[in-house]
Amino acid sequence: RAKELGGRRVEVFAAHMHADVVRRLEIAADLQRALLDNQFAVEYQPIVDLATSRVTAVEALVRWWRGGTFVPPEKFLGPAEDTGLIVPLSEWILHEACREVAAWRASSIDIGLSLNLSLRQITAPRFVETVAQALEESGLPASALTLEVIEEMLVEDADDTINKLSQLRALGVRLAIDDFGTGYASLAFLRQLPVDTIKIDPSFVSGLGRDETLTLLTRTIVRLGHDLGLVVVAEGIERPEQLELLREMGCTRGQGYLVGRPMAARGVDSLMRTPLQNTA
Ligand code: C2E
Ligand code: MG
Ligand code: MG
Ligand code: MG
Repeated sequence: RAKELGGRRVEVFAAHMHADVVRRLEIAADLQRALLDNQFAVEYQPIVDLATSRVTAVEALVRWWRGGTFVPPEKFLGPAEDTGLIVPLSEWILHEACREVAAWRASSIDIGLSLNLSLRQITAPRFVETVAQALEESGLPASALTLEVIEEMLVEDADDTINKLSQLRALGVRLAIDDFGTGYASLAFLRQLPVDTIKIDPSFVSGLGRDETLTLLTRTIVRLGHDLGLVVVAEGIERPEQLELLREMGCTRGQGYLVGRPMAARGVDSLMRTPLQNTA
């Protein structure tokens, strides 16, 4: 009887696995077409200076409208990484975002650009040259570009990754650690990379004012960042109470639905010409 149940459980598990594999293969096949058909878009989420409420930068976030249906990045970034399509996709995002932010800066909107990197993108040949070329073509100054990395990127071939990111740092590009505090080696990571910014993961920010430990941890990360001379960005701000506490802690910058949702380029344009309501 128990054996029977156990067997059935394995079967259910296998069927589920199968469906997942099929879904990933379908997505992988569609990605190639989507890239050719321009089905991707870049949205921009404001990052504000918490002391002044001024938008200092935007984070570029990729969007896929697959036959009119929105597919979240977590669903397709894995398959894109597996198939290598992340490389041409990332290159497109890089050029698109640099061009758009450079255009805003040309119309006197003084903002920076934050961009998420993928491991395969960094490993690809000519990664450093590709970034340098995007800056040159768009006219975006290197100091206006921040590249966001997560510590999983230092798992394999760490020396090559550190070397390439350091080359970009030497060009004036800034580096940020994304999802800070969630990895096993966040502190070691700080020693290995010439980092400018840490982005506190929403799993800490979500507990602000509600959970004593998370509030204390957030305060400690903010202080750590400041002691190391880094810019500290809090991610995932959704409630006014979180904003208040982060300001009181002296956190430099903030990002989240309360401060501004990811939006199309046109939205950023009008946002920059009207003051923010939520953060005043
Ligand atoms: P991330 O870099 O940590 O980006 C922040 C994510 O949190 C975004 O999700 C954003 O929409 C979401 N977010 C922002 N504010 C709030 C908030 O107040 N509450 C909640 N619940 N969520 C908030 P998104 O756009 O779905 O992206 C998910 C992840 O996918 C990103 O996490 C990043 O790791 C990756 N990603 C997104 N765009 C790109 C890209 O162009 N290239 C690469 N390589 N990865 C990307
Ligand atoms: Mg990010
Ligand atoms: Mg993050
Ligand atoms: Mg993340």
